[in-house]
Amino acid sequence: MAEKVRVRFAPSPTGRLHIGGARTAIFNWAFARATGGDFILRIEDTDPERSTKENVDVILNAMKWLGLTWDEGPEVGGEAGPYFQMQRMGTYAEALERLKERGAVYPCFCTKEELDAKREAAEKTEGGYAGYDRTCRDLDPEEAARRIAAGEAHTWRLKVPLDHGPIAFTDAVYGGVSFPADVMDDMILVRTDGSPTYNFAVVCDDANMGITHVIRGDDHLSNTPRQILIYEALGLTPPTFAHLSMILGPDGKKLSKRHGATSVEEYRDRGYLSDAVVNFLALLGWSLDGETTIMSRETICSEFSLDRITKKDAIFDETKLNWMNGVYIRETTPDEWVRASVPWLAQMVALGKSVPVGANVVPTENPSDPNAPAPEPIIVSDETLAAAKAQVEGDLAWYERLYPLVVERLERLDQIPEKLAFLFWGANCRLDQKSVNKVLLKDGARADEAIAACRGVLADEANEWSAAVLEEKCRALSEPLDMKLKNLLQPLRVAVCGNMVSPPLFESIELMDRADVLARIDAVVATVF
Ligand code: GLU
Repeated sequence: MAEKVRVRFAPSPTGRLHIGGARTAIFNWAFARATGGDFILRIEDTDPERSTKENVDVILNAMKWLGLTWDEGPEVGGEAGPYFQMQRMGTYAEALERLKERGAVYPCFCTKEELDAKREAAEKTEGGYAGYDRTCRDLDPEEAARRIAAGEAHTWRLKVPLDHGPIAFTDAVYGGVSFPADVMDDMILVRTDGSPTYNFAVVCDDANMGITHVIRGDDHLSNTPRQILIYEALGLTPPTFAHLSMILGPDGKKLSKRHGATSVEEYRDRGYLSDAVVNFLALLGWSLDGETTIMSRETICSEFSLDRITKKDAIFDETKLNWMNGVYIRETTPDEWVRASVPWLAQMVALGKSVPVGANVVPTENPSDPNAPAPEPIIVSDETLAAAKAQVEGDLAWYERLYPLVVERLERLDQIPEKLAFLFWGANCRLDQKSVNKVLLKDGARADEAIAACRGVLADEANEWSAAVLEEKCRALSEPLDMKLKNLLQPLRVAVCGNMVSPPLFESIELMDRADVLARIDAVVATVF
């Protein structure tokens, strides 16, 4: 029987979980799921300054939000624990003892100053610096033991076999890879303070945790030959390596802040659904069949395989992510949608409560000025936002009614406020300058007449306050007024919604009170005409 797959995601908790890290996590998780293996989360927290509890929580929360459940690791435990490197110091000490017994390491007493001076001198020579010059490699063992016993500071270095041929391995993505061994210097495994270096700790952990496949970013490719040397020194067989290509921005440069959001948290806060993010990231360097773009977690988890990972750099195309997110938003049920949208629905309500009185006044003295300044931003206080959140959470059923109005038009949930805040603005409804110019003030459009006629329909208590009835009655005005439907209804849209672009007009009207709608219309008529 084939050996059970065990993979790990091993973030250093130095800040947010970046998109590249999330992609690595997803590939490991999906590979474990597809093979019935174990997915392990290991926290590489050896940097004492940056590895804070907060940073660990940030990573764990991002993993949870993405839905990447781990079989072993923080919070869930497991037989190969602990899963924080700082709690595994004893295992590194044991591994060092093993290396000493095997004669694979030696103590090095060179001081930092000596090493720096040698490096500087070597850098000035033609060949440049070729690594540590192995001064301490041939120290008399008895002398070395004496110096250690006397408490002299020392590191432990790997005794790289001088006759080692090329370090070759088959990468599951890159294929055959080979590095010359003679350029590998005798790297430090344990520092003077007894702490393990990165490569040593990773090898010890991967070996002790029974990791079968190391799937990680190709920024680690150059570490791999060093790690293989450590496995050999310990007398262990290295795992299979799979290095993932870089993620580039659309301009072909390494993905960075310049390209916009780069952390999972930011994507969450901008209203992306985690299903969409997982789907999108799974396709950054892997494909199901080269065609399928929308696929569920179940499909990814059952179909993922290393042989469909490409070594070509992956391009992070935010337009595609937005499109994909829109697809996932449309697939939500109203109930799912409203629950996922609470933060933005609260913002929307808060904006409604915070609009200044007089926002309905066209924001320029000359309403037809195309260069009119943009309206002032609306300031929302924390208290207003908190109250709005409570209001939304207390009445989710009502907010579900907004679903049909926008679900087809959203690429991100954070677009909800800009699309729907108008519903809450009442007679202060902010008017879009361009819409006023193009629709209400257009020569010969008879916008004032159209609005007056529609107002009559909306004011008539005999008309049931429903989208269907109101729409039918307003449309019926087209003939007697001898007006095209567009000329009849667009002015009403601008008067009620403040903008010529809005969700379906009568469905929006139905959600407002009759008195509210009439007040909006009256305010606009008084201001604009
Ligand atoms: N802790 C390393 C990092 O955050 C990953 C180590 C590995 O995957 O081998 O980049």
